[in-house]
Amino acid sequence: MKLERLRTISGKIKLVTGLHIGASNETIEIGGLDQPVIKHPMKPNEPYIPGSSIKGKLRSLIEISEGRLGKNNKGGPCDCGRRDCPVCPVFGTSAANRPEDLGPTRIVVRDAMLTEEWSRKFRQGNLPMEIKYENTINRITGTAEHPRPLERVPAGVEFDFNVTFKVFQGDGEDYFRTVLKAMKMLEKDALGGSGSRGSGQVEFVDLTVDGEKILLDSVPV
Ligand SMILES: [Zn+2]
Repeated sequence: MKLERLRTISGKIKLVTGLHIGASNETIEIGGLDQPVIKHPMKPNEPYIPGSSIKGKLRSLIEISEGRLGKNNKGGPCDCGRRDCPVCPVFGTSAANRPEDLGPTRIVVRDAMLTEEWSRKFRQGNLPMEIKYENTINRITGTAEHPRPLERVPAGVEFDFNVTFKVFQGDGEDYFRTVLKAMKMLEKDALGGSGSRGSGQVEFVDLTVDGEKILLDSVPV
């Protein structure tokens, strides 16, 4: 397979509501918050959005919209490995199911770091994380259980967003359009945890595709 061109999408992810992407349990300090947000290993305590979280969300939105939920619609990622699948060529598939003509995963989503401006605020101590208390209701007694503190990156914060996309000989425009469509759907959905309670609403701002400005509103869904 011959690589024809590399395309890029760049811009910013702006938080419309607080964002909670949880850290794994091993990294939680004793006596710390029980639901902290993930922090970058190379930039102490600075929140970021792992590229894998963004990619996974974009993928699942396309799987839902295209009816490609894996394992006979029983959930899990689509693993058909077909070239005409709207998911597998773009977002990848397991090696076992990979036909020769599928080629490498087209999309690479970089970790989204705080923009320079927000990183500076953070280092100066002007970007405190938000703590939200979420009640859960005991289904049997109907009483509120004591609320668990949820750490969130506050609304308004911006992260740099970067995608590179491989176009191989014979790939149609559809693969790339899938990514823009998923981004547009993400604005109507949520990133990270607690999305059904209002966390993780985001918008893409200052977007460019291959250096040219674009508006997601102009992308057909
Ligand atoms: Zn598939």
